Amino acid sequence: MKVVYADNNATTMVAPEVVEAMLPYFTEYYGNPSSMHTFGGQVAKKMDVARQQVAEIIGADPTEVVFSSCGTESDNAAIWGILRANPRKRHIVTTRVEHSAVYNLGKYLAQSGYHVTELGVDSDGMLNLDELSDTIREDTAIVSIMYANNETGVIFPIEQIGQIVKSKGSILHTDAVQAVGKIPLNLSKSTIDLLTLSGHKLHAPKGVGALFIRKGITFTPFIVGGHQEKNRRGGTENVPSIIGLGKACELAKSYMDDEWVGIKQLRDTLEEEILKKAPDARVNGHKTQRLPNTTNLSFEFVEGEAILLLLNEKGICASSGSACTSGSLEPSHVLRAMGVPFTAVHGSVRLSLSRYNTREDVQYIIEHLPPIIRRLREISPYGREMKMKEQAAKVSAGIQ
Ligand code: PLP
Repeated sequence: MKVVYADNNATTMVAPEVVEAMLPYFTEYYGNPSSMHTFGGQVAKKMDVARQQVAEIIGADPTEVVFSSCGTESDNAAIWGILRANPRKRHIVTTRVEHSAVYNLGKYLAQSGYHVTELGVDSDGMLNLDELSDTIREDTAIVSIMYANNETGVIFPIEQIGQIVKSKGSILHTDAVQAVGKIPLNLSKSTIDLLTLSGHKLHAPKGVGALFIRKGITFTPFIVGGHQEKNRRGGTENVPSIIGLGKACELAKSYMDDEWVGIKQLRDTLEEEILKKAPDARVNGHKTQRLPNTTNLSFEFVEGEAILLLLNEKGICASSGSACTSGSLEPSHVLRAMGVPFTAVHGSVRLSLSRYNTREDVQYIIEHLPPIIRRLREISPYGREMKMKEQAAKVSAGIQ
């Protein structure tokens, strides 16, 4: 069956060059990088190269990069690492639109006696920076605000946020899982203290990530064990995946300019054509401050799951922000925080592209998605009601 993969914010294909780079680390260079012998030592040296490659894509120093098992671990490590290093500070600031890796940790911390402030967003998914400034207190240990939203692609003005956080004497962590490899970053000139990234969002394997910890930040390890990662994360490193992450970062950096212009053009065509062909559709999220690969569309009066099922029949892979996504019983907390009407939240679909998507893929989606929406509206009670209203409006306007 034909497959058009448009769910790259969920995960990406591992780049063939990445697989090739990883393979020797299973059967040839399998030594433990912490071993004293040369066989292990050579693996440690290769890991240094990967650390350099990761550092380069975010403009950091290699000593500031700590490898982890995923984005979720890096988010947890950042927040717990700062809270534990500053036990007298019990306040955390975050937002209502974070990925569950931070969002649910915030809920957990609130239940555990920490004070957690969740900042709201406007209908574009943007923060009110005055509110942020008013919220930070003397006992604010950490402000954790994502770089780019996984559902809508909305990009927060993270440097402006960082300036506010710095002026108030607190620490800024950003979950940049969706940003790294998609937009240029330079932490050497930045107010960000800690940054999370994850391999599987940028064509490296699943189960590997990294945490940037700025030099001079006092940090208590989240995973306590051996002396790996300069005592910042215990546990034998996942060497093949780390090598893959390094290679993926190198590739992403080399493709950064040209590739993303092309991806943005594809996304824009997709969005424009679907909006033209499907009535009562809307784009969720800021028009310009958005990742170049992401579109989050809402189709009023239809169920997101039904859209996904019919897209799936055509081999199109997408995501929905409606109920039951990823086993959740609740509709998207991100779209609800943006005040997207209930009827539109339920009919939301996220399409996210990558460098492996083609013009033909986009044409295929444009060909199949609007008829799916029409079909679902015809069978939905809301859809019938809408049609009656449309006809009534035409009659009263004298257009039969
Ligand atoms: N943060 C964001 C913004 C994400 O999109 C994701 C994954 O979807 C994560 C964190 C979690 O990353 P991982 O799947 O590597 O744990």
